Amino acid sequence: MYLEENELKKYYDELANNHELYLKEYGVKIPGFKRGEKYIRSSLALIYLYINFKQPVKKEDLTDFVLQYPTDGTSGDVQAGRMLGKQSGWYIISGKRGDPECSHYNVNSGEYCLISVEEPYPNFDSLRREIELTEDDWENLKEDYDYRCATCGSKEGEKNYRYGNITKLQKGHIDPNKPLTIVNIIPQCEMCNAIEKDNFVYTKRGRIRKISNAKFVLKSNKKVKEEMFELLKEDLKK
Ligand SMILES: [Zn+2]
Repeated sequence: MYLEENELKKYYDELANNHELYLKEYGVKIPGFKRGEKYIRSSLALIYLYINFKQPVKKEDLTDFVLQYPTDGTSGDVQAGRMLGKQSGWYIISGKRGDPECSHYNVNSGEYCLISVEEPYPNFDSLRREIELTEDDWENLKEDYDYRCATCGSKEGEKNYRYGNITKLQKGHIDPNKPLTIVNIIPQCEMCNAIEKDNFVYTKRGRIRKISNAKFVLKSNKKVKEEMFELLKEDLKK
């Protein structure tokens, strides 16, 4: 398979977009596209895996694809499949490594498979550790919010606007499905944090953006549930 530069770039841009939206916050790294006239090997490998999304790719085929272009590497061996997963955090499973998903995707030894462009490789945490919250970070974050709850605006140590008790700020998740790291925290008062717990994804300004717990829809009345059912059927067909 040979793709022209504009086609390669189209796939690369899709990957870069997903990286920006979903993967960057986990510390996943995306290789550059080109350096001068030469392609970056690992980006070609990533593109090839992406074209074969959720399908096993033989290391020889990956190598053949990459080496038909002028690249930044010199050796005849392309290690990119392994490196992209283990070191850069892309969710690429390896038959040789024996990742648990291999049987599901029929990935054998000597094969790789990219299985998500929205989730990082499980437990990939090179940067996650670095972006864990220290006490200083937490103080700075509260200061950015003028020591107010991102959701209701009540100020720490003062009377809560909504509930009347004294406001104490807590670390609220922006997205409860992601780890509580510095990029995923807003200050929330005890009440906002407790009442809306885990059901929603927030914006940095403390506004609800989407549902994060599917069971929450069960609280809706029958008419809304039926509408939701129809909407989801349509949406999932896409
Ligand atoms: Zn609040």
